[in-house]
Amino acid sequence: MSKALINRSKNHHVHYTVCDSLMRYAKILGFGDMHIKLDKATGLVAIISVHNLTRGPAIGGCRLLPYDTVDRAMEDSMRLAYMMSFKAAINNLNHGGGKAVLIKPKVIKDPQAYFEKFGEFVNELGGRYITAVDSGTSPHEMDIIARRTSFVTCTTKQGGDSDPSPLTALGVRRAIEAAIQFKQGKDSLEGVHVAIQGLGHVGMSLAEDLHQRGARLTVADISHTNLERCVAKFNAKICSPTDIYDVKADVFSPCALGAVINRNTIKRLNVSIVAGSANNQLAHNQYGTLLHERGILYAPDFLINAGGLIHVAVIYDKGDLHRSLKQINGIYQIVYDLYERSASEGRATNLIAEEIARQRLTAHTHGNG
Ligand code: NAD
Repeated sequence: MSKALINRSKNHHVHYTVCDSLMRYAKILGFGDMHIKLDKATGLVAIISVHNLTRGPAIGGCRLLPYDTVDRAMEDSMRLAYMMSFKAAINNLNHGGGKAVLIKPKVIKDPQAYFEKFGEFVNELGGRYITAVDSGTSPHEMDIIARRTSFVTCTTKQGGDSDPSPLTALGVRRAIEAAIQFKQGKDSLEGVHVAIQGLGHVGMSLAEDLHQRGARLTVADISHTNLERCVAKFNAKICSPTDIYDVKADVFSPCALGAVINRNTIKRLNVSIVAGSANNQLAHNQYGTLLHERGILYAPDFLINAGGLIHVAVIYDKGDLHRSLKQINGIYQIVYDLYERSASEGRATNLIAEEIARQRLTAHTHGNG
């Protein structure tokens, strides 16, 4: 369609601009391909973003969420698929990153038909993308999808679980243990003080695990119920959400929101380690360098919060929970090697980790065709 034709209608012009900026975004992220399916009969509007196939088929969750606009959904799927590629590459998985976003209709009249149609869509891609559980979907939906495609994991038969949070928390705990060993030469968490921001699915699971290993906890959350539970069960000390950055502790563990490490909070941090589950903790890459210059060891989020992704990849490969746990425990060595390299090269951990992942994603460019 020519630009002149597009410009004739104001609405079309808006669409042109949106597509154009999405395409620019896709180029910046180094895509990959994107696929859209609209099915009037079932109400399915599905977007699948495949970021990279260099290391193997793209893998990543299928979210079912309401979105204001299709372009927001597309942007979300691209951003998340990109992140999956980096998580997979740094953790040595033989997969690229992918993500499916289903724009949730007001009512799904026939859920069976809806998810079967999505399964057909996944199957049409011939294995470029393997789908899994994410926000809004569960092993039950994966079972329906599996009637139409084999490129699916987390089904009940495969032992799928709706909540990957304990596995994510395990990866975070292992990264904390590696950091304590590296910084303090200690092979135990006994007496180690951890300040946790956010006691949701991951934060609460982490709090339990750390408490069992003898760590002291200071916790912040905007939910009083979560705080009370944590105090009662794990003997934690409460701190207000605004003051958690100032707590004098060994570790600050962001498990709530992104962009919490920024120019203002770095000045306030009173810890020597930052390791948590939240995605995109650094408001900008340069804050990794600022942490490094302040002598604060940062465990890159995309490396240490990949427990759920690792499990999904393992069960797709017909592995079991035992194998997943072994592989997630391996985060300890990956992140320890990174801490050592950061110290010897005098460079921030996040920059080195991203560099390693990027190299692995471009090693054999023929795979992306
Ligand atoms: P969640 O929604 O269950 O928990 C978030 C918690 O943070 C909630 O208890 C909420 O009340 C609290 N919170 C919100 N704003 C806060 C604030 N200003 N200060 C303190 N607490 C605040 O989410 P989750 O599944 O536990 O995930 C936590 C983070 O980890 C998210 O960034 C998520 O993207 C990331 N992550 C999660 C997983 C997983 O397996 N769940 C995997 C990878 C990454």
